[in-house]
Amino acid sequence: MPDNRLPVLILGQGLAGSCLALEFLKYDIPFSVIDVPWMSNSSRVAAGILNPLIFRYYTLSWRAEQYLDFSKQFYRELGETLKKTLLHEQPMLRIFGENEAKLWSSKVQLEKFSPYLSKELLFSFDGIDLRFGAGIVGATAWIDTALFVSEVRKLLKERGLLKEQQWSYDQLRLGVDEIEFEDVAYKSVVFCEGYRAVNNPYLKDIPFRPVKGDVITLKIPGFKSDYILNKNFFLVPLGDDLFRLGSTYTWDFTDEKPEPQAREKLLSDLSTVLRTKPEVLSHVAGIRPAIADRRPVAGRLPGMDKAFVFNGLGSRGGLLAPPLAHYLATMISAQVQPDAEVDPARFNRKTI
Ligand SMILES: Cc1cc2nc3c(=O)[nH]c(=O)nc-3n(C[C@H](O)[C@H](O)[C@H](O)COP(=O)(O)OP(=O)(O)OC[C@H]3O[C@@H](n4cnc5c(N)ncnc54)[C@H](O)[C@@H]3O)c2cc1C
Repeated sequence: MPDNRLPVLILGQGLAGSCLALEFLKYDIPFSVIDVPWMSNSSRVAAGILNPLIFRYYTLSWRAEQYLDFSKQFYRELGETLKKTLLHEQPMLRIFGENEAKLWSSKVQLEKFSPYLSKELLFSFDGIDLRFGAGIVGATAWIDTALFVSEVRKLLKERGLLKEQQWSYDQLRLGVDEIEFEDVAYKSVVFCEGYRAVNNPYLKDIPFRPVKGDVITLKIPGFKSDYILNKNFFLVPLGDDLFRLGSTYTWDFTDEKPEPQAREKLLSDLSTVLRTKPEVLSHVAGIRPAIADRRPVAGRLPGMDKAFVFNGLGSRGGLLAPPLAHYLATMISAQVQPDAEVDPARFNRKTI
């Protein structure tokens, strides 16, 4: 087979591998995926919130202005094709702490924030204590990440493009200009294994800092909200009195099991504003694949013509995966100048 008709091998089918597979389908690039779902929960437990703001620093998140509409359109179109609701466009109610209303009002004056932050503030909301007020972020949304990866999985299986197998790195023969996995030749390989990449010998220059997060599903009888609520937690309305509450950040962890302390913290944070006692229905956890410089990594590995990485989506995989999958698919099929901010070569140029 001529080299350019050999398939690209995608290792991992979370948000990264799924978005890349969809881009390959769109541009008719041959590929196959190898994945088992139980090696990482991240894309199955994520709340999938697309939020252009980082409230901790009151800044716009990296490339939010550039990526938000692209990503929403990506999930909207796929949802229409599959006849599934993947994208939920829902504004966010930011519940202020002491003195935050002043900060919000000063940011609203700035051109880059004005498309996102409401001028009007709210001081009452049924069932919620708004003693310091609240503001609305109009452009937010959430995607049903579990449904998204399971629908992509179904689609790949139907087309014979997914192999369910737990792989190990020694099954891969990765030369400078040839790739084989279990004696089958591929055009190239893309590593999309989420936080498990900490064990990848080809990615040892990338300073991964995985971070665990817990999420709880609650029933709150009688409480209604058309907003995603945000304070030092998020509360996503799922319908029928059900809500998703999250999430914690734990850097020191040993496994993906839900943590009792994380559950207590989430419920205690919520109780500072919610007037009803919620009922806990389930509790799950996952590990976000974050990188020390808080940027994703997408591109060709230094010194390797045919090996690529797509990782480091951190806590913003929903927003970052579609545009970066598009960029990577273009890079794999044509000559494009690497985007220095996401290029894995950045770690060979400087010390983190
Ligand atoms: C609690 C929590 C809340 C979050 N909330 C949000 C949010 O609101 N908004 C947002 O945008 N993002 C959120 N995120 C982050 C988002 O989920 C991640 O950025 C995203 O899931 C990363 O996707 P990934 O494809 O890189 O990795 P993963 O989802 O980890 O996918 C990797 C895949 O590779 C497979 N795999 C790995 N090793 C092997 C192997 N050896 N053999 C076979 N298969 C293998 C895994 O099983 C998995 O299927 C959240 C994450 C967590 C944990």
